[in-house]
Amino acid sequence: MRRNGLHKQSRSHATSQRCGIRQLTTFGGVMVEWSPTSWTSKPIKQDVTYEDPDAVKAALTKLQKLPPLVTPHEIVSLKNSLRNVALGKAFVLQGGDCAELFDYCNQDKIEAKVKLLLQMSLVLIWGANKPVVRIARIAGQFAKPRSSPNETINGITMPSFRGDNINGFDATPESRKPDPERLVSAYFHSAATLNYLRAALSSGIADLHSPLDWGLGHVVSPSITQKYEKIINAVTDALRFMHTVGLDQDRRVETADIYTSHEGLSLEYEQSFTRLLRHPPEAFPSPAQYQERTLRRGSSASISKGYYDTSAHFLWIGDRTRQVTGAHVEFFRGLSNPIGIKIGPSMTADELVELLNTVNPTKEIGKVTLISRYGADKISQYLPAHIAAVKASGHLPVWQCDPMHGNTQSTPSGVKTRHFTNILSELKQALEIHRASGSFLGGMHLELTGEAVTECVGGAGGLTEEGLSERYETFCDPRLNEKQALELAFLVAGFYRE
Ligand code: PEP
Ligand code: MN
Repeated sequence: MRRNGLHKQSRSHATSQRCGIRQLTTFGGVMVEWSPTSWTSKPIKQDVTYEDPDAVKAALTKLQKLPPLVTPHEIVSLKNSLRNVALGKAFVLQGGDCAELFDYCNQDKIEAKVKLLLQMSLVLIWGANKPVVRIARIAGQFAKPRSSPNETINGITMPSFRGDNINGFDATPESRKPDPERLVSAYFHSAATLNYLRAALSSGIADLHSPLDWGLGHVVSPSITQKYEKIINAVTDALRFMHTVGLDQDRRVETADIYTSHEGLSLEYEQSFTRLLRHPPEAFPSPAQYQERTLRRGSSASISKGYYDTSAHFLWIGDRTRQVTGAHVEFFRGLSNPIGIKIGPSMTADELVELLNTVNPTKEIGKVTLISRYGADKISQYLPAHIAAVKASGHLPVWQCDPMHGNTQSTPSGVKTRHFTNILSELKQALEIHRASGSFLGGMHLELTGEAVTECVGGAGGLTEEGLSERYETFCDPRLNEKQALELAFLVAGFYRE
C-alpha cells in the first residue's frame, strides 16, 4: 500500500482551502501563527494511511461545506460551567462508550444513555451538594487510538480497527482498509444522534416530574439495598419538596443540558469543522473583561471572532497523542472550545506545565480539563506531584478523574476487563489526594453504557470473570453497565457525605 496518511498532497489541498484567515496565538511568550491546518507541519502520532488521496480530498471538501453540529453559544456556555467546576462550585460528570459505533445511533441506546447520565447526576448533585455539568461521550466518539497499527486474526495480519469513522470492525483486510467515505458518514451519524438527543431533551426525557426507575433489583446484599434506598429517598424527598413549594415550575426541571464530546483524534475531520465564528456575548461577561481582552489582543476585529471546532462542545487529546511539539497539541492550542488532556503515569510534571502553557497561555480558568488516568495502584505516586506543579504554575484547570483507563486488565482467558473495586478505589484516592492538596476533584470521566452488558467485573450484582461472556459487547474497552454506573454514583455521592 502506498503511504499517504493524508500526506502532503491532500493536506496542502485542505490548507489551501482553509488557511485564508490565520490568527496569532501566544506560544512560549512569542506570537506564532496558527490556522486550522498548521498541525499538518508537525509530527503526528496515530496517523491514518489512506490509499486514495482524491477520495480523501472529496470527503474533506464535502465536510467543510456541511453545517456545524454545535454552536459557539453552546460551547461557551459549557466553558462557563467548567469555569465553575475549576473554582470548586460545580461537578462534571462525563461518560459514554469507549468506541461509539454507527450502529449505536438508535432511539433505545441514546435514551438509555441519557437517562443513566441524568440519574447519576441527580445522585451526585445530592452527594456533592453542587450543580452537575453533564458531558456525554456521544455523537462523534468514533476514532480510536491503537497500541499497534496491525493485528493478526486467525493467522491473517490486517490493520487494527481504528473506529467506525476510519475502518470496519469485521476481521478481513478489506473491511479494515481505511475508507475516507466513513468520515462523511461519521458526520451524518453524529448529526442524527445529536438531533434525537436534542429532541428527547426538549420533549421531557429529563423531566423530573416523572417518576424515575431506580431498579435496585440486582443488588444482592440487603445492607447495600438499604444504603441505596436511603439515597434515593433523600433525592425523591428533595424533588417532592421542590414541587410543594412550586420551585419545579421552572423549565429547568423539565429539561437538562447534556453536552457532547469525543477524542479529537482524526485531525482532518476536526479541521473540517473548525471555523472562524463570532464569539457569543457571554464570551465577554463584563465590560472590564472585554476591555482587558481588547487590549491584550490588540484589535477589536480579532476579538469578536475565534476558531471553534463545531464537531462537539468538548474535545480531548488522548494519552497517546499529547506530545507538546506534536500535531494534536498544535491543533488544540488554537481552539476556543474547552478542551481535555488525558494524563497518565508517563507524564512528567514539567511536561504537564509546558502543555498547559502551550494550549492555554492566558491561563483561562477551566478552559482545560486534566483527565487523570493513572490506575488505582499508581495514582498516589503521580497525582500529588502533578497537582503541586500545576498549582505553582498559576493555571487553574478542571481536575477530572478517569478511573477506567489505568485499570484495564485481562482475565486468564484473555478477556479485557476492569474491576469495579479498582475503579472505585482510584476515584476515592483522587478525592482524598485533592482534598489533602487543597485542590478539588472536579469530576469523573467514565466508560459506561445504558445497557445490561457484562464487561466490568464486580459491583453489587456480583459479576464474576466467568459471567463476562454473557453480554460482552464492547468494540474497544470494557464499560460499566447501567447498574454498575449508578452504583458508582451512589458510592461517590457517599464519599462526599461521609
Ligand atoms: C479513551 O478515553 O477511550 C482512551 C483511549 O483513553 P486514553 O487516551 O486515556 O488511553
Ligand atoms: Mn477507552
